[in-house]
Order: sequence, then structure tokens, then C-alpha cells
Amino acid sequence: MQPDMVPLSSKAATSLMIKKAKQLVNQLVDYRGHDKPPFLPEEYSRLVNIRKIQETNLGDTSALLLKFYDGYVIKVNQDHSQVRQNFSCAHEIGHILFSDLKLEKYLHSIEYKTFDPRKTTDLRASSRERLCDAAAAELLMPELVFRKHLSTFGISIGSVELLANVFKVSLQSAIRRMAEVSIKPCVAILWYPWPKSKPKGLRPALRRQSRENSNYMPVHYNVGLSSALYKAYQNDTIIKTWKLFYDGNTVKRLPVEAKGFGHGENRFVISLSFSDS
Ligand SMILES: [Zn+2]
Repeated sequence: MQPDMVPLSSKAATSLMIKKAKQLVNQLVDYRGHDKPPFLPEEYSRLVNIRKIQETNLGDTSALLLKFYDGYVIKVNQDHSQVRQNFSCAHEIGHILFSDLKLEKYLHSIEYKTFDPRKTTDLRASSRERLCDAAAAELLMPELVFRKHLSTFGISIGSVELLANVFKVSLQSAIRRMAEVSIKPCVAILWYPWPKSKPKGLRPALRRQSRENSNYMPVHYNVGLSSALYKAYQNDTIIKTWKLFYDGNTVKRLPVEAKGFGHGENRFVISLSFSDS
């Protein structure tokens, strides 16, 4: 570590990335003269010296960022849905911001509590990817614009689809963002069938909530076939129910709305709980 380098916490690195992404959003809004969604990666290209975004056959890879003497080229997987391609490209723009901010140096200054060098490399890589995802979310769903739409549509399961359509992002990205930027405290959870081949119930795959100081955890992680959430998996209607959550050492019963989305193997349930009622 260089003597003049001040170590940076991962929280500080995240806010640097988001600040940089917000600057880019503002530049784009100034350039267009309006802040109407969607905010597509192609629109940001000019601002970060991306020469082109090319849809191509990439196998299992979502996207690649190539640097040439006269700018960047993003190759994105042509087999992925448009909303997934949007997120992949925005993530690659995140890598450009990451390198502009020279954050790689900071990743090397973190002393991980492991003596396995391979593990350290993995940890560095995953914190880099998380930072790029945070930037991507801000670029595609700028906080202020998203919050404005959220207050128009209201925080509900029904709004998730509307927001995903307006911002051209996946339902998963939209619900995650909804919980992050919501002023009203809420907990969003994505549930996937488990086991995948012959579901015996649902399991949470992602949990997001507003308000950093609260940490609601579902009391029952596995949801059985007879539960209301499983009915949401089986039908397309919105299910309203109650669920128990840990809030630190206390258990609270919160109202929950849930809906199933997608088909076949890609079917999942989104639940939204409100912690202020
Ligand atoms: Zn990446």
C-alpha cells in the first residue's frame, strides 16, 4: 500500500461510484433537456467515449468491455432479453466509472481476513462487480426520477411492472430499486421455487429494504406448498397476507403483498412488506 493512500471503506467506494453515476445522469438530462425515462445505455455512450454497443454471440457471458485507442466498445449477449442487455451494458459503463475513479488501487488496499490468495482475488472481484451494479442501477433508474415515478404509481406490487416497463429494466431490478429508494419503509423479497425441478415450496433469493438502520428478516425462510405465498406462485393474482419478521430480537407481523411472475423454470414470486403499519 502506498503511504499516501487513505484506505476507503466499501461504503465510501459505493458512494463515490453512485456520485459519479449521478453526474453522468445529470449530464444526460442537460443534454436531452428532460428527465423522462427510460435512461438507456446507448444514450450514455457519447458521454463516456463508447464508440458502439454491439449485440453478439457471447455464450454464457453477459457483456464485455473492450478498450481501444479511440474509445470503448461494449459487446453484449444477443440471446439475452432487452432489459437484461440494458443492465449488462450499464454495468459495463460502471466499469468505466470504476476505472476513471481509480478504485482498483483501493481494492488492493483492503486487507481481507483470509490467507488464501485465490479467495482474496474472488473477494476483490465480487466487490468490484457490486460497485458496478450499484452504478448501473443509478444510471438506468436515477434515484430522484425513480422516486418521482414511485410516488405517482404508489408502492405496490402492481407498480413494479409499470416501473419495469417505463425504465426498461427487469422486474427484479425494479423491485430492488423500489425498496432501496422508497421513503415508506418496506421489505422486498424475491422467492424462487425449491427444489427447482419438483418444488416443495419457495425460498428467498434476494432481500432488499429501505432504511439502513432496520434489518427485517423473515422468520420462516422456507415457504411450504400450503402457504399464501405459494398460491401467488401458482396463480397470477396478487395475494395479500401477513408474515412474521425478525426486527433484531423482536418478532413483528407485517402485511405482505405478493405476486408470481414469469413462466416455467423462470417463474418467481415477488413479495413486498410494509414495516410502518
Ligand atoms: Zn463486471
